[in-house]
Amino acid sequence: MSENMFKWEIDGDGILTLTMDDPNQPVNTMNQTFFQDFPEIVDKAKAGVESGEIKGIILTSAKSTFFAGGDIKNMIKSTPADAEELTKQLNDSKATMRALETIGVPVVAAINGAALGGGLEIALATHHRIASDARGIKIGLPEVTLGLLPGGGGVTRVVRMLGLQEALMKVLTTGRQFGAADAQKTGLIDDVVSADGLLDAAKKWIQENPEAAQPWDVKGYKIPGGTPTTPALAAILPSFPATITKQIKGAPMPAPKAILKAAVEGAQLKNIEEATAVETRYFVDLVTGSTSKNMMQAFFFDLQYCNGGGSRPKDVEKKQFKKLGMVGAGMMGAAIAYVAAKSGMEVVLKDIKQEAADKGKDYSVKLEEKALSRGKTTEEKSKALLDRIKPSTDYSDLSDCDIVIEAVFENTELKHKVWAEIEAAVPSDCVLGSNTSTLPITELAEGVSRPKEFIGIHFFSPVDKMPLVEIIRGEQTNDETLAAALDFTKQIRKTPIVVNDSRGFYTSRVIGFFLNEAMRMLAEGVDPAVIEAAGRQAGYPAPPLQLQDELNLKLARKIGAETKAAQEAAGETVDDGGVTAIVDKMLDEYDRPGKLEGKGFYEYNEDGRRAGLWRGLWDKLGAGSVSVPDAETAVSGTGLETAHGDGPVLIDLIERMLFSEALETQKVVDEGVLMSDADANIGSIMGIGFPAWTGGTRQYIKNYDRPAEAALPKGKVAVADGGDYPTTGIEGFVARAEELAAKYGERFNPPASLKN
Ligand code: NAD
Repeated sequence: MSENMFKWEIDGDGILTLTMDDPNQPVNTMNQTFFQDFPEIVDKAKAGVESGEIKGIILTSAKSTFFAGGDIKNMIKSTPADAEELTKQLNDSKATMRALETIGVPVVAAINGAALGGGLEIALATHHRIASDARGIKIGLPEVTLGLLPGGGGVTRVVRMLGLQEALMKVLTTGRQFGAADAQKTGLIDDVVSADGLLDAAKKWIQENPEAAQPWDVKGYKIPGGTPTTPALAAILPSFPATITKQIKGAPMPAPKAILKAAVEGAQLKNIEEATAVETRYFVDLVTGSTSKNMMQAFFFDLQYCNGGGSRPKDVEKKQFKKLGMVGAGMMGAAIAYVAAKSGMEVVLKDIKQEAADKGKDYSVKLEEKALSRGKTTEEKSKALLDRIKPSTDYSDLSDCDIVIEAVFENTELKHKVWAEIEAAVPSDCVLGSNTSTLPITELAEGVSRPKEFIGIHFFSPVDKMPLVEIIRGEQTNDETLAAALDFTKQIRKTPIVVNDSRGFYTSRVIGFFLNEAMRMLAEGVDPAVIEAAGRQAGYPAPPLQLQDELNLKLARKIGAETKAAQEAAGETVDDGGVTAIVDKMLDEYDRPGKLEGKGFYEYNEDGRRAGLWRGLWDKLGAGSVSVPDAETAVSGTGLETAHGDGPVLIDLIERMLFSEALETQKVVDEGVLMSDADANIGSIMGIGFPAWTGGTRQYIKNYDRPAEAALPKGKVAVADGGDYPTTGIEGFVARAEELAAKYGERFNPPASLKN
């Protein structure tokens, strides 16, 4: 036996400590080494228990984390052809977990660092879990966020520990990663102790609990809250699918639905081995399917690329920032000042008038009051954070800043003027960043004397909640400045993507195509409620007309006019599909710009909450004049059954939205504005709400999987069914784009770059 992964030590009291330490990886994962060594070590331990040598077992890790979970590099490669082998491998390792929890002596998990996914599942197969109170420890089952379910016994054991409702709603379908104290409160772990007392605490528990057993192995055990046939639970069970649909907002994500089924079916089975086998079946379905691949690609690999500085020039020395000069204390400036101060930076918050600068700081004061009232910070930390923000009207306060970000009104002339003033005040090596959302960086750089050190640092609103920052490299921006902007982003704990300069950069440019496509549908006469339902079923966090209201039609008109002028200047034919007329009517005839004014495509209550779509869309703008098959189901459907699942969906409307953004992304890639797929995927999901299940705009194209609802053109037979018509991957995407182009217009014609 290799004994590579587990270090074996028995002390004088007969307590065996198994220390996990994968010799080939920085973290422990469920890889081949684990699958080989785990059963062997448990067998050896069992022999030691039977011989009386071993009186208890502590499972811990030599890494800074306890155990990272499944091996994503491997899982992302699984195809349906691997299903049988995967099933066997999983069931074998579950048999080993079962052997561990029934080994006959107390087994304790001493959780020294993060225990996520498979890591927590191993710990759940012990009798007692003690975590260290080390800072930043994370405990949970985040599989759902990768389109998977906890297939290492996690669904089964958490349901048996917490009961169906708690397990599903708090742990399994949320994928929440708990801190140690919260994990204990939820019941996932039993105790939290200081890091240096961890092993002693584990040993003490073993000595005090020689008869330890899992609750489900004790006579008379019942699942907390009962099984699905217990009347009280049976009464509320039918509402679970709707609750989950609401949680995922109707998006076509198979994992939450599979978790629900595995949990409910498993809870009906008395025998734990049978329950974990049900869980395996659902897991294998998910891991060999396409959605989990998309989500693993985006939320593991691409996120790692962006956060790990994948687009950062390699040989530039790392820069640490001490003081930010924030010019413009409006909505954006105030919030950027907050996140910078929170990360420990000093901030000068500069505006024209002292009241405006003070009001900007007030934003931080309010957020800190809220954090204090929720126990998320301490008086001391909060005061220190606020003390770091200095509201000012005086440029001379910027004299020792190492970075300055400008967020004044969106106007080139004003920005040029402000930049001249900034430059006169700041040190000559200060990084110069603009938070402009639409103005070309190269053009703004004309207003500074150091265009090589000028860069776009584009935040998203609300800055304290939105994790993304789009870094825009102007024509002259040098590598040092790009690297510095990325170091700054990392320091304030945001996720950066890097793009080259172009109108609307990447995110603003692409989101416009989504909103425009929805307004085209409205102009065609599609019922607005159906458009919104299609947006939800596509998986967008906010449906398009609701989002358009939030972004405001005045801005849409301004951007639309600029885009049209640019298209005309480039000699392109402009076909706006009636969108300009709708926008003009909404603004000029009916004065309905959006949410801010309390009237847009939606009506709003006085407190700003949406109060239904505006009736005038039907009565005055003629919406609803064309009939869309299955529209009623789409509007009233709960989502789980209708979304890419069993029932009918408005597949053309859904795919028009998704394709419009994916195709524009391809053009952005072709123009050299985007340089990596990771930036495209993460930017689209985290910046502009492209549906998470797709893995982002590029992944959607590359791993396209034609939904069953989209009928093939007459006479065509899919490759999968023995024909030659492609329905998956880039070829499948191209074929479907061509169909959409034939039906809805040339804008869906796939660019040549996709056909090579
Ligand atoms: P805002 O109107 O809320 O704030 C602008 C602030 O700049 C005001 O407080 C104003 O007094 C101040 N200002 C104007 N001239 C100044 C000067 N000479 N010196 C110092 N301060 C001056 O605007 P906002 O929404 O915060 O947007 C600011 C910038 O950020 C714009 O370029 C905008 O395009 C960009 N942006 C906005 C968003 C958004 O969602 N609002 C998102 C990304 C980027």
